[in-house]
Amino acid sequence: MSITESDNTPDLPEKVSRNLPAAAVILERCDKLASLSSMPDAICRTYLSREHGLANEMVSGWLTEAGMTASIDAAGNVFGRYAPAGQDTFLVLGSHLDTVPDAGRYDGILGVLSGIAVVDQLARSGTELPFGIEVVGFGEEEGVRFGTTLMCSRAFAGTWDSSWLALTDESGTTLESALETFGMDPQRVGEAARSPDQLEGYLELHIEQGPVLEAEDLPVGIVTGIAGAQRLLVTWTGTAAHAGTTPMDLRRDALAAAARGVEFVERTALALGIVATVGQLVAEPGGMNVVPGRVTMSLDVRSVDAELMEQGKQEILAGLSRIAADRGISMDVQPVHAADPVACAEHMRQAVASAINGLTAPVFELPSGAGHDAMAVATVCDVGMIFIRCAAGLSHNPGESVSHTDVAWGLAALHDTVLHLAENKARDSR
Ligand SMILES: [Zn+2]
Repeated sequence: MSITESDNTPDLPEKVSRNLPAAAVILERCDKLASLSSMPDAICRTYLSREHGLANEMVSGWLTEAGMTASIDAAGNVFGRYAPAGQDTFLVLGSHLDTVPDAGRYDGILGVLSGIAVVDQLARSGTELPFGIEVVGFGEEEGVRFGTTLMCSRAFAGTWDSSWLALTDESGTTLESALETFGMDPQRVGEAARSPDQLEGYLELHIEQGPVLEAEDLPVGIVTGIAGAQRLLVTWTGTAAHAGTTPMDLRRDALAAAARGVEFVERTALALGIVATVGQLVAEPGGMNVVPGRVTMSLDVRSVDAELMEQGKQEILAGLSRIAADRGISMDVQPVHAADPVACAEHMRQAVASAINGLTAPVFELPSGAGHDAMAVATVCDVGMIFIRCAAGLSHNPGESVSHTDVAWGLAALHDTVLHLAENKARDSR
């Protein structure tokens, strides 16, 4: 259990303290799901594994208990549907149930379980809604088993790629045969696709996986969008030479140039308000007594603003070229990966803001530097995200931790966001 505060924490808004019991249930359920693991002393649950099937079963039980009709779609995603008045459009709440190896117990899982808790409350209070609600536990987000991320949310969004069927896992099992073993028809995964006119939107609660909310001393935040990323490999080529006999002014030192480059990357990112990282720097030949002749340097540039990300990339590459030219070094750039940023829908951000405002908490917006299912779902409907604080920003790590009260905050925010979206929809259709 990760409950760190007592249930009677003083000076919590009433709406939040009312959610403490439900938050305690969520934390217990996170622990139960954590026991479904392929690693004996750690958490690991990958797409279409035996543990994935067991997690779907466990979650189906909770969906049913909360008054929903549970089902598994053609991609192996688990769904619960709540439509007491026969509603035919749906607001979808959820996240993913798979994990990285040696994972924490909240990444993704918390969003699925919070969705179930919200429906449970709406069903108990008999709240009338102008749309139905679906809760989803996507089977794959992390890309661990087959090396491709967001496969399940892409199936939902209608962008499943059938060429993925040939992908293999570590043991050589193809995605096609893994689907068959799981009881799915590989040729029919495309049927998991939803039609946009059936969807009101997708709302995902997730741990922040970063340190910002903790630094701001806030339990919850509104996600503005999910950052896009550009990844490149920059190769600096100079001349490897004797470290004793080559005078300083006659060197073409690739590493000295790259070092300037790293500093320039940091300065440019700070000036533009984006993030840019050099995560790898390999100097060759790598002798203590050799002037480095060649350096391979990775560059990762991200922003929620597509134009700013492109501007950042261009400014950085222009600066690196100048540094290289000044030192007689040649430079080569190879793109490795590019993903566009995804914005959270304005009306969903506002609904989350109204909810948080109603809880008397400061409304704080932040971008997501990590990818999420919402990224894939955004191609089929509007998306919104709520972040909750996690200790030290730690994630993809068994030390991942959330507090009981923060889960109650997140739950209250999610519940009230649903109510605001419902009010807006009812008002717009009047
Ligand atoms: Zn996640």
